[in-house]
Amino acid sequence: METIKDYFGSLVFDDRVMKAMLPEKVYQSMKKTIDEGSELDINVANAVATAMKDWAVSKGATHYTHWFQPLTGVTAEKHDSFISPSPDGGVILEFSGKELIKGEPDASSFPSGGLRATFEARGYTAWDPTSYAFIKNKTLCIPTAFCSYGGHALDKKTPLLRSMEALNKQALRVLKLFGNTSVKRVTSSVGPEQEYFLITAEMYDKRPDLKYTGRTLFGAKPPKGQEMDDHYFGVIKPKVAEFMDDLNVELWKLGILAKTEHNEVAPAQHELAPIYSTTNIATDHNQLTMEIMQKVAARHGLVCLLHEKPFAGVNGSGKHNNWSIATDAGQNLLSPGDTPHENAQFLLFLCAVIKAVDDYQDLLRLSVATAGNDHRLGANEAPPAIVSVFLGDELNAVLEAIETGAHYAGTKKMQMKLGVDVLPKFNRDTTDRNRTSPFAFTGNKFEFRMLGSSNSIACANIMINSAVAESLRLFADKLEKASDFNAVLHDLIYKTVKDHKRIIFNGNGYNDEWIDEAVKRGLSNYKTTPDCMPHLLDKKNVDMLTGLGVFSEAELKSRCEIMLENYCKSVSIEASTMVQMVKTQIIPAVQAYSMDIAKAVKTKMAIDEAAVSEYEKQLVKTTAIYIDRMDEGVSALEAAIRGIGLCGDIIEESAYIRDNVLPSMSELRVACDEAELITAKNYWPFPTYGELLFGVR
Ligand code: ADP
Ligand code: MG
Repeated sequence: METIKDYFGSLVFDDRVMKAMLPEKVYQSMKKTIDEGSELDINVANAVATAMKDWAVSKGATHYTHWFQPLTGVTAEKHDSFISPSPDGGVILEFSGKELIKGEPDASSFPSGGLRATFEARGYTAWDPTSYAFIKNKTLCIPTAFCSYGGHALDKKTPLLRSMEALNKQALRVLKLFGNTSVKRVTSSVGPEQEYFLITAEMYDKRPDLKYTGRTLFGAKPPKGQEMDDHYFGVIKPKVAEFMDDLNVELWKLGILAKTEHNEVAPAQHELAPIYSTTNIATDHNQLTMEIMQKVAARHGLVCLLHEKPFAGVNGSGKHNNWSIATDAGQNLLSPGDTPHENAQFLLFLCAVIKAVDDYQDLLRLSVATAGNDHRLGANEAPPAIVSVFLGDELNAVLEAIETGAHYAGTKKMQMKLGVDVLPKFNRDTTDRNRTSPFAFTGNKFEFRMLGSSNSIACANIMINSAVAESLRLFADKLEKASDFNAVLHDLIYKTVKDHKRIIFNGNGYNDEWIDEAVKRGLSNYKTTPDCMPHLLDKKNVDMLTGLGVFSEAELKSRCEIMLENYCKSVSIEASTMVQMVKTQIIPAVQAYSMDIAKAVKTKMAIDEAAVSEYEKQLVKTTAIYIDRMDEGVSALEAAIRGIGLCGDIIEESAYIRDNVLPSMSELRVACDEAELITAKNYWPFPTYGELLFGVR
């Protein structure tokens, strides 16, 4: 029988395949390009392209595509077949180094936020050799970056790679100062835990809201939701288990290290976590995972919902971004070391993260901002919209001791004067957990929990990498000039703790008191996308991101515009969907019910007035009241929608939508959800929450 070992990565042009198929010299220069980012010459590219094509064709592929991640948030591909006519009337299969390295998809239909003037409608894709090519749907997919001809990034991968490079450069400077001269490269790694819902395709098909917007815009609370806490880690239902088995096989074939799967808090909610990998690959893999999840679900008669808040009243879905940085020798720089010397280095990297999160709270918040995620952040389930760092008791005590110059009250009593040789060894096994913190230290990595389930993880990691690179840059500037390294190091850590301790919060982030406390500490609390997104263009943020070479100013402007446009479009589509559903489905359903009751009342009256119950008479009136309420609600929402057209720029439009369209939608929903509860079940035009959430067996 074929085992996992046999088919794991079977659809990936990975190191094993390259080693086997490429001439030794070609393999070596390819390896150098992957490991060290050195340039690739065209002869090598030609040889790699031929091997890739031969391998892909042997696996049944007929086409190739440059696979990229435009700012739409999903991946894009344009397929070309390998065929080329031969003089004898047949075809030969060709794929050149040039075709491998560069592609020219027509870029004009991808969002560019004004970056791509019409005269340069053609963008180009450039091969990213650090992420392996793979086969999907008989197509060889080549991971690429996507740029305009002016060289502006039109995708998420380009700035991600730049942020990784910035982090590498600054971390190497710091490591060198600690005498770590053999390290060649520092890379950030990510393990994203992906949450999702599964419902039956049959029910999905009856819900226009799910189809058009990814979430339910209506639905009265079912008698049972998640209050029993009986779903989290519960027994996985057979149909879901079949889906998960199938999904694992598909992901493993693509070399994706799917590892953990379990039920989540809400009914019908589940989670999948892979083993972590380099940020760039983790990003590609997460995009693929989301795509494959949906495909595999369809094969099982299910639909996988990746929206952040598919159902009101039960938990939404997020994505936990576990992040760490390590050297090419495998040393995790966020892992407390075995020696005091290593611990001093660890503390400095820890401080770099603390400072980064405090200085760039706004960037972290806006990196996860979408219309969908706005429903989640700030509700009583996900981390609040306020960014803070959780360290755990032990580390906290260490930092406090450094700050106060006091004795460390932990396992060893000694003065926390940070000469390199007096720092205690602390416990690697940090067992205390805080599930409410947006940015939690979990022993040897940080877990950023604010991402929405449908977010590309690229955006968050661009900001984390960049902000930490910036801290390290400032630290290195100071330390490189130091005549007494230990004294300056101590000072630096002391000062960082003192200046940035406001961002550290070890309590319950779901608590209302925390919001007041956070305000007192001066932390920002951006509840919505229109609140936070414009801060992308704040001077301090532009200076940092352009200074590190992660974005150009033009790219930042375009991104801000595109993200706000996405927000406006998403909500507008939801609003229109609501109008349509209420007018053409909900009101007619309540009306039909009302009419039938009225007919019954009339029929009964004709026989004997006493046969008519008060209840029936009242119901005719109540349904009429609801019909009017819903009609008023629709009119108000339609008026709000019309107002969108009158807004000036996109910032104004997004604020208008937040303040006018969303509140009208909420009001209309309340009327409809109440109407659902007084309308006989067989009149209601779509599956209820109860049916959706408990429909999969
Ligand atoms: P927990 O249960 O504490 O959240 P897990 O060990 O289950 O932690 O890991 C959660 C995710 O974090 C997984 O995707 C895992 O691969 C990832 N992870 C573990 N170590 C690291 C690390 N050093 N860097 C980045 N991600 C990591
Ligand atoms: Mg976790």
